[in-house]
Amino acid sequence: MASPGIEVSFATAPTAPTPAEKFAAKYGRPVHATPEADALWAAKKLPTSAPLRRLAAEYLWASDCAGICAVCEIPIDLQFRGNHPGAPTLDRIIPREDGGEYVWGNVRVLHRSCNEELAEGNLPVAVEWARELLSAKLRSVAGELTRLDILRIQIAHAALRLVEVRAELAGAGLSADATEERLRWVAQYQEQVTRWPGVAEIWERQARDREASEIGAGAKI
Ligand SMILES: [Zn+2]
Repeated sequence: MASPGIEVSFATAPTAPTPAEKFAAKYGRPVHATPEADALWAAKKLPTSAPLRRLAAEYLWASDCAGICAVCEIPIDLQFRGNHPGAPTLDRIIPREDGGEYVWGNVRVLHRSCNEELAEGNLPVAVEWARELLSAKLRSVAGELTRLDILRIQIAHAALRLVEVRAELAGAGLSADATEERLRWVAQYQEQVTRWPGVAEIWERQARDREASEIGAGAKI
C-alpha cells in the first residue's frame, strides 16, 4: 500500500526493442505507407542469411501474417526454432518455379511442417489435413507418435483426396486448366499412395494385433 504523499506511477520503463523490431526498423515496410512505397517495399529482396531469415519471419509473423500460418491457420509459436515442425519458416507465395521472387511482397510465414508438406507436393488442400499433420508432428516431437503414425495420416488423406479428385473429374463443367490441374493431383497422390506398398500390411497386422489383444483382455475378465 502506498503511503500518503507518495505517488505511485504505473508507467513502465521503455523496453529495449526486440531483434524483430530492430529488424523491422532496418528492413521493414515504410511507416507512412503509400501505394508507391508499398510497391517498392514489396519488390525489395529479403536478406538471405539464416539468422536474418528468422528475423524476417518474426517480422512478417508480427505484421502481415498476424501470427497465423497461411496453410493450417493455426497460430505459430515463436518459441519453436530451427528444425522443429512448429517453427516459423518463410514461404514464397508464388513458387520459385512459377517465377515467384524472393521479395517481401511474395513471402508469408508457415510452420516448418506445413512448408515441408507444401514443398513435397502434399499440398494440404484441406485445412483439417494440414492441422492434423502439424499436430501429429508436434506430438511426435513430444514422443507420443511415431513416424509410421504420421505416414498413416498422410496416406489416409492422400487416398481421401484421390477419391475427391476422381469425383471432381467425373463431374461436369471443368475447364481444361482445372482438369489438367486435377490430373496432376491424381498422379501425385497415386504415386504417394503406391510409394509405400508395405504400409497396408503393417496396418493390417496392427489391426490384427489390436483385435488379438482385445480378445486376450476379454478372456481374462
Ligand atoms: Zn501450419
